[in-house]
Amino acid sequence: MLNIGCHLSASKGFTHMVEESLSINANTFQFFTRNPRGGKAKEIDEEDVKKAINLMQENNFVKILAHAPYTLNLCSADEGIRKFAKETFSDDLKRMEYVPNNMYNFHPGSHVGQGIDVGIKIIIDVLNEVLTEEQTTTVLLETMAGKGSEVGSKFEELKQIIDGVNLKEKMGVCLDTCHISDAGYDVVNDFDGVLKEFDKIIDLKYLKAIHINDSMNPMGSHKDRHQKIGQGEIGIDAFEKIINHPITRKLPFFLETPHEDIMGYKGEIDLLRSLYKD
Ligand code: FE
Ligand code: FE
Ligand code: ZN
Repeated sequence: MLNIGCHLSASKGFTHMVEESLSINANTFQFFTRNPRGGKAKEIDEEDVKKAINLMQENNFVKILAHAPYTLNLCSADEGIRKFAKETFSDDLKRMEYVPNNMYNFHPGSHVGQGIDVGIKIIIDVLNEVLTEEQTTTVLLETMAGKGSEVGSKFEELKQIIDGVNLKEKMGVCLDTCHISDAGYDVVNDFDGVLKEFDKIIDLKYLKAIHINDSMNPMGSHKDRHQKIGQGEIGIDAFEKIINHPITRKLPFFLETPHEDIMGYKGEIDLLRSLYKD
């Protein structure tokens, strides 16, 4: 079975997200840990979480993916912003233990003119401060489009980060199809080659999840504008290969495509399920 879900609003709690997922034939989902603007996170309702975990088990859900606020920048040039990002990250990891054994994805950061090596060094230092032996959560670095001074649009940069982290077994990578295409990897004609490159540079054992998004822009554009599945520059044939590829077919896929409501996601989930070869 294809393991797929979409990005949902966490505002009505975990049980609501599981129910929404069930209503669109999803068996996982992604959510922001807090307001993307980075405000205080909502209190955890333990009853709600327990109910959600049971419901997920009954319905064969696979790992869910929490997403750090996209405004979080671990390697900002501003010390105050860096400190806030680190505290948010650390608090999110503590809260993740209410839903143990899942995954937490974040954008590595933007070095804002400090240079990529300085950015990478700061990211490593923060990870070495916030990751703990006890955590059950796997922390995923997202592959980025290379907009502005984003760190993580090259596999080499993600590899450098992982190399510097002490608790490597807590680390993974989330491959965003829109982002890697925008970053210049040939998702359309050579997804197999992209995975070989990933393996050569990072090691495929770190590949834990896929953000499955089409792109409004051609390969190498560094834009990061998501498009609906099959309506962008990547196209449906490439997605059929991606979901069926022997290396990626068992991974959880998360849609972050632009839709007004969750029924838009249902259409994409149904389409992708119909293209999946069991
Ligand atoms: Fe993201
Ligand atoms: Fe993404
Ligand atoms: Zn994006």
